[in-house]
Amino acid sequence: MAALLPGQATLGVLGGGQLGRMFVHAAQALGYRCVVLDPDAISPAGAVAESHVKADYLDPVGLAQMARDCDAITTEFENVPALALETLAGMRVVAPAAAAVAVCQDRAVEKAHFEAAGVACAPHAVITNEIELAGVDPALLPGILKTSRMGYDGKGQVRVRTPAELAAAWDDLKRVPCVLEQLLPLRAEVSVLVARGSDGQVVNYPVQQNLHRAGILAVTEVPAPAVPADVQAAAVAAARQVVQALGYVGVLCIEFFWLDDGRLVVNEMAPRPHNSGHWTMNGASVSQFEMQVRALAGLPLPEPRQHSASVMLNLLGDLWFPAGDDARTPPWDRVLALPGTHLHLYGKAEARRGRKMGHLNITADTPDAARAVAREAAVLLGLPADF
Ligand code: ATP
Ligand code: MG
Repeated sequence: MAALLPGQATLGVLGGGQLGRMFVHAAQALGYRCVVLDPDAISPAGAVAESHVKADYLDPVGLAQMARDCDAITTEFENVPALALETLAGMRVVAPAAAAVAVCQDRAVEKAHFEAAGVACAPHAVITNEIELAGVDPALLPGILKTSRMGYDGKGQVRVRTPAELAAAWDDLKRVPCVLEQLLPLRAEVSVLVARGSDGQVVNYPVQQNLHRAGILAVTEVPAPAVPADVQAAAVAAARQVVQALGYVGVLCIEFFWLDDGRLVVNEMAPRPHNSGHWTMNGASVSQFEMQVRALAGLPLPEPRQHSASVMLNLLGDLWFPAGDDARTPPWDRVLALPGTHLHLYGKAEARRGRKMGHLNITADTPDAARAVAREAAVLLGLPADF
């Protein structure tokens, strides 16, 4: 494919959330025009794009408008109907492809794909009917029952200890197709961002260590402080293997569990830039969003270089409600007085508990220095400094 050149081409994004907003910012910085498709009249990405097509993802008129106005189209939303990407692919450059996104949309299919690529995942069973429910190996308990589709930020997940709890949890989840995963003893969680170009070139970012609270990413540290080099190398090799096996084009993030017994297993993947890669906006030579723009436009993918030790703190809506229901504005002025702090707010109109409102990147010359400032920032914001 001939590259779509900055200053000439228009790039489209399906989805108007914060990932779309940061993609649009990166695309515009390079000189592309951007169009966002999102059904909501007000959205973080729609607010910054040159134009916003307000339509459902499967609306033929909206998709036709995207095809008319854009030279290439991507998605920021992993649950965008694969059919929308397929429809557009008949008319324009689309990356990632519908088939790759479809794999990531279904945990059961995704796990089968990991195994086919020779990458180990958590012991699990697929539950789509009563017979499969009754046949679950008790060794998978205690476990986590996860809906196969539409889960994010720990939603659609129930921890179960006994067969009776498992049956009740499946009822609570409306008996939709699910995957039961064995509850694993995690020593640490890590993720790897990889990008593959349409010419097959693959680049990767360094291993990211992630701390989750209540199923939602809270802190990312790069370099990963607790993970030895051989485990990091295995995670990078597995991520590159998966992206090759998918014939994927664009940025993809793979999450891993590093277990108490030293094994590394893959958790899941996201067919897009990822929350755990937000540090790249300030700590790397190329951000994950610019990398996605380059992959979509057919530009060269540079090998990313980490130039600063980085910590990212996720900023959830809870920060706006430290005491009761009266919203405050967090003390950004005091936080930004700390050295190496970079604030990214997503322009969401209203703060709500559990809602991703922004993130704070902290960069420094050494990991210890970055962590020390990140802890100071956490204390100022009323977040746990438990990393
Ligand atoms: P997101 O898409 O936002 O990353 P999700 O809703 O898809 O999240 P998972 O990544 O499956 O959810 O799980 C969320 C978190 O729950 C994990 O990061 C991990 O902390 C914990 N968790 C999930 N599965 C297991 C498991 N099998 N054993 C132990 N902990 C787990
Ligand atoms: Mg996850």
